[in-house]
Formats: sequence, structure tokens, C-alpha cells
Amino acid sequence: MKVLNLINGLAVPASSGKWLDITNPSNGEVYGQLPRSESADVEQAVNAANSAYKNWSITPAIERAACMNRLADLIKDNADMLAEAESRDNGKPISLAAAVDIPRAEKNLRFYASAIQHFASESHVMEGEALNYTLRKPLGVVACISPWNLPLYLFTWKVAPALVSGNCVVAKPSEITPVTAYLLSTWVKEAGFPDGVFNIIHGLGAEVGDALVRHPKVAAVSFTGGTATGAHIASVTAPKFKKLSLELGGKNAAIIFSDCDFDEAISTTLRSSFANQGQICLCGSRILVEKSLYKRFRDALVAKAKKMKVGDPMNPATKTGAVVSKEHRDKILDYIALARKEGGSILCGGNSTTPENQPALKDGYYVEPTIIEGLAHDCTVNQEEIFGPVVTIQPFESEEEAITIANSTEYGLAATVWTNNLKRAHRVAAELETGICWVNCWLLRDLRTPFGGVKNSGVGREGGFEALQFFTEPQNVCIKL
Ligand code: NAD
Repeated sequence: MKVLNLINGLAVPASSGKWLDITNPSNGEVYGQLPRSESADVEQAVNAANSAYKNWSITPAIERAACMNRLADLIKDNADMLAEAESRDNGKPISLAAAVDIPRAEKNLRFYASAIQHFASESHVMEGEALNYTLRKPLGVVACISPWNLPLYLFTWKVAPALVSGNCVVAKPSEITPVTAYLLSTWVKEAGFPDGVFNIIHGLGAEVGDALVRHPKVAAVSFTGGTATGAHIASVTAPKFKKLSLELGGKNAAIIFSDCDFDEAISTTLRSSFANQGQICLCGSRILVEKSLYKRFRDALVAKAKKMKVGDPMNPATKTGAVVSKEHRDKILDYIALARKEGGSILCGGNSTTPENQPALKDGYYVEPTIIEGLAHDCTVNQEEIFGPVVTIQPFESEEEAITIANSTEYGLAATVWTNNLKRAHRVAAELETGICWVNCWLLRDLRTPFGGVKNSGVGREGGFEALQFFTEPQNVCIKL
């Protein structure tokens, strides 16, 4: 298949004529190509967006929302095809793409189509003197850059609030998983978006992504991806005073107290460790267990993890698929090797593997679900994001120690706390240096809530009205009475 850019309503290749390969991680085969776009393509897309901006910014919100809802309808009508495409591109089980990624992409669009119609601004009366009211103006042309782990899910989470607020968008999906964003681009016109309002360009981050964030007409950048990339984008955009939203990496702790609901804590921790092969920024990669429960919890978790077998992502029964690329698999395996060097014991997994009796998948990129014990909380493996099916497990003696260990990384995205002691739950949640804390659950998402991290996990919040505030600029108007 050939992925194309969407620029000014037209499906076009890169102006240089260069292409990049698209690989299926389940078998290592190249099955398509995407445009290797460069600054010339950015120029065209930004100019198209800039020309479309005046009309789009004054289009009534209800009409912008109608376009968004029609695009959501098209996602729904094509959900099976999109789930298959996502699984092929990313290696994730098709069951996960069908149950989570694609329905959530549809929901993102509908959520913001509705939210923009409830987005109100403030007014402040100075009695007898003046009336202030605050306009919320769109920014102009904005860049939305998304990663490979939840391709359509995270792509739509950015473009939906940007577009409904009246901005024109130039979006760049990950070059590793470009296909579902491309499929979406083929429906943009049918949904009713005027040409130039919503542009999608493909290519390498360091080339087309970099040119996009540097472009002088791009007023804001909404980025989700790695912390190093986020730091680079911040360094490039800060001197130009662009608005910036950064959703970055994590090294999340799951804190298990001995009074937890054991079975639920085990089954959810298994999911929070290995869902999407551990490639969700919210996965709990450091499991901290109260000493009195440690052995029982560890043995039950290891027993369940050992039963998780990798399978063909396209098989509806598969629960654990491939990791996204050869480079990423090798990076994960390097961290497992480092864990051994740092004194860790591999309780289960630890190796690359392939699905049983599937010779056609022998060149795919699979890693066994891996649990590591015996590492110091401040060693490299417990400090750096691995972003694969690899977790560490460690005991703690007291609530204070658990909080200290949980807060001991440079990251601060999310945490999970398991306890039936309500007072403790509130206390620990408040002490954790994270943007998100789940108690007795994981990845339970209300789209109205603020989403994002502290420390090296990011700047700003997505979700609810926070995203609409990001994609608009307040202007106060003061009228003397
Ligand atoms: P990445 O930083 O390599 O790439 C993310 C996107 O940025 C891609 O589209 C890439 O092409 C682009 N990019 C790369 N270099 C660029 C540059 N110089 N200028 C502009 N754009 C550039 O991240 P990834 O490997 O695709 O994704 C994995 C990372 O994303 C993990 O660290 C994970 O934790 C993080 N993530 C965070 C969240 C969150 O909400 N906090 C959600 C999902 C993933």
C-alpha cells in the first residue's frame, strides 16, 4: 500500500518523490510505503492551513462540530478495517485495536464535537465601573505530532480539540505507524472539512517533524512522544514563544498494600504491566508490594505472566502481540541484559520469542512478558523508561518508603494504588508526584478529566476543556460602563 499526504484537500506524495518503508512487526515484512516529506511539504501544508484559517475560524462551532461528528461516523462505519490496519501496522492484538484503539478514536472526535458547544468563557463585573469579558480565540495554524503506540487513538485526541476550536491543523503521525491516520485522511473531505483546514503529512521526525515545529507560521505544538524529543521541541519552540503541550514518557509505579483486594490487584496489575506489550505510557513498570504480601503477590503474578504466550496479532484470540519494531525489540532486550548486570533475577520471560507453530511469523518482533526482581530502586532499569513488556517488582516496608520509591524517578506521569483503606488512599495519592493517580483500578478514563504528567513526563494537560483552553488564546475585553 502507498500512504499519501493530505495537503489542501489533495492526496499527494512527498514533493521530493522519496519514500520510506512500512513494516509489519508481526512478520518483519515490508508491506507498504509512506512519503518521506521534508520542509517543502511542510511549507505547502502550512500555507494551505494558513489560507483556510480565516473562514474556518469564523465558521460557527456547531458546523465545525458537525464535520467532526461526520468523521466520527466514518470511523465507526470502517471500524473493522481500521482495527485490522492498526494491528498490522503496530503489532498489537486485533482484539485490542477493535475494543480500545478504534472505538476510542471515534469517541475522541464525538467528545470534542460536543465539548466545543459547551465551552464558555468568563466575564468579570467591576461594579458601577466596567465589564470585562474574555474572548477565546483560535490560535491559527497548529501542529499535532503523535507517537506509534496508540496511533489513531492519540492522533485523534489532539486533532479533534484543535479543529473544533477553529484552528487549522498540520498533523504528523508517527512514521512507524502511519496507516490509520492515512485512512482517516481519505475521509476528511467527505466529512465536510474545507480544503486546507486539516492537513496530514508523513515522514521522519527529525526531518518533516522538525521543519513543522520550527515553521514561523505554526503558532502552537501539541506533541506526544518521548521525553528527549519533547526536550528538543521545547528548545526549538521556546525562543519563538510558541504555545507548547508535551505529553512525554513515564516510569509509573503500581503500589500494592497488603489490604488490597488481592484477585483484582493481580489481574489489573497483569494488564497494567503487559497491555499493548507494555507500550502504553500509563503502564505500571515498577510494581511495589508491601512486604507482608510480597511473596504471595509475586508468585501469583509470575504464574499468570508465564501463561501469557505471544500470538499472531491478527488472530482474534491473541492477547499478546508483537512489539512495534526490530529497533524497539532490541532496545527492550538491552534493558533486560542490563537488569541482569545490575543484579536482577528474571522471574519469568527475559527473551525474544516467536508465536508457536507459526513459521510465517518467525521474523516478527516478539518479547516474552518479563518480571524482574532484586533490583535497587535507583538502578538504571528502575529509572529509565523501557516501554515494553518488562516490569520490576520490589518489596516495601512502610507507606513512606513506598512513596519515596515511587517518587524517586525523573518521571511523573501516573501511579496506581491498591488498598481498601480509604484514608491511606487519599493520603498516598496526594503525596505522589504524578499527574494521574488511579486507586484500585487502572486506565479508567473519563475524557473530561485533565490528562498529563509532571516532572519529565510533560508540560500542560490534555482532556476536557483543558485541551480547548490550550488550543485557544484568551483575550480580555474591558468596557467602561
Ligand atoms: P518519539 O518521540 O520518537 O516520536 C513521537 C513523534 O515525534 C513521532 O511522530 C516522531 O516522528 C516525531 N518526532 C521525532 N523527532 C522529532 C523532532 N525532532 N521534531 C518533531 N517531531 C519529531 O516517540 P515514540 O517512540 O513514537 O513514542 C514513544 C514515547 O511516547 C514513549 O516515551 C511514551 O512514553 C511516549 N508516550 C507518551 C504519552 C503521554 O500521554 N504522556 C502517550 C503515548 C506515548
